[in-house]
Amino acid sequence: MARKNSGTARKLIFLIVVCAAGVALWMGGCDKIASKFRSKTKTQPAKKEKVARRAPPSTSVPGPKLAIILDDLGNDKEAAEAVFALHYPLTISVLPYHAHSTEIAEEAQRRGLEVMLHLPMRAIANETPEGHQLEAGMSSEALARELTGMLESVPTADGVNNHEGSLATADAKLMGELMPLLKQRDLFFVDSRTTAATVAFEEAERAGVRSGFRNVPFLDDVQDVAAIRKELELAMRGAKEKGAAIAIGHPHAETLRALKEELPRAQAEGVRLVLVSELVK
Ligand SMILES: [Zn+2]
Repeated sequence: MARKNSGTARKLIFLIVVCAAGVALWMGGCDKIASKFRSKTKTQPAKKEKVARRAPPSTSVPGPKLAIILDDLGNDKEAAEAVFALHYPLTISVLPYHAHSTEIAEEAQRRGLEVMLHLPMRAIANETPEGHQLEAGMSSEALARELTGMLESVPTADGVNNHEGSLATADAKLMGELMPLLKQRDLFFVDSRTTAATVAFEEAERAGVRSGFRNVPFLDDVQDVAAIRKELELAMRGAKEKGAAIAIGHPHAETLRALKEELPRAQAEGVRLVLVSELVK
């Protein structure tokens, strides 16, 4: 009888312990939710602060990877909407100070796309200069001021690539001054390689900036769907041969159509489309 009683008591104690643990866990969970809510309400009213957002690391996933950057967004909201509607993990690079730069950058981040600042830099021909661009010979103060302003215009940027820049990216002094500023802000850099003489990637590496460069041809130098599909095939082949490829195109209707037609094939061929932040080292 006594033995039976002590058995029941033990069961009762066990039950109480389990219940207590359950309640503690539940409260812990509530606490986490509450703290999440607290941190949300705390950061929400802040002005357009850069939200630290990193693509999930996938280095453990084997197989070739392809990142596609679409440059020159900022002016055309419809073009941005058309990119969003593709529903692929694409990276968009936004020119600063255009009519919809900030809006597009913020919406793209909400939609899970990666955003870069498409940093205007002086081209040799300089035929279509942006209102603000980096110039060889500019003072370090002017450089820092320009970069700050541009990043305010594209507040959700995780990284930077150059727009034009055949003159500026070949200037070791300018690139050598730019890269530590990117490092300070924890931004990665992709060299668009608009000239064979570029030293931007080397300078980025020297400054310890996570960096990469376009290592397959531009997708849409010829704005024709068949031609762009061919370039996409080359990019996929490049990804297979090199293990990873960074391609750059633009949100032209022809480019978006070619992407729509070709990207399902990439998956079928085992090439994984990734955000460019996964490929910078
Ligand atoms: Zn560009």
